[in-house]
Amino acid sequence: MANQTPLGPVQESSTPEVKFREFLEIRGEKLTEPRRVLLRHIFDSHKHFDADELVAELHANDRKVSRSTVYRTLRLLVEAGLLRELRLTNRTAYEHDYGYPSHDHLHCTECNRVVEFINDDIVKIREAVSLQNGFRAEGHRFMITGICAACSRARSPRRRLDLI
Ligand SMILES: [Zn+2]
Ligand SMILES: [Zn+2]
Repeated sequence: MANQTPLGPVQESSTPEVKFREFLEIRGEKLTEPRRVLLRHIFDSHKHFDADELVAELHANDRKVSRSTVYRTLRLLVEAGLLRELRLTNRTAYEHDYGYPSHDHLHCTECNRVVEFINDDIVKIREAVSLQNGFRAEGHRFMITGICAACSRARSPRRRLDLI
């Protein structure tokens, strides 16, 4: 999946590994070696990825983590607040939530590119609507779907005027 991630990291008090281990301990589970391998791989770089891409990447790097472990660990990482789920038109993608600023996305339904942006007005609308409804907002999901500039250019034939 093509990615554009211009945002810088935010400083957190502990590492994703420490946070995940704490989360697992509360559930009576352990940070097993395959889970640790997975966690390190995921938190190596910020991008949007889906489960199949992750499995393919791990196998390309000769890391032996089973598909079922990948799926189950992704679910746990979302529950632990380390990853965020992005519902795209045709699949579910994941990205870092922990240690990364809150932001929104544009999703091109043609090339599947996901672009990140921060717009303070969206947060203002969120707060205003919440206030009107006596609601305390903790977050929001906002995704613009459509066709990116590159795909629009490729799609529309040169306008007649340009050829004169
Ligand atoms: Zn596109
Ligand atoms: Zn993102």
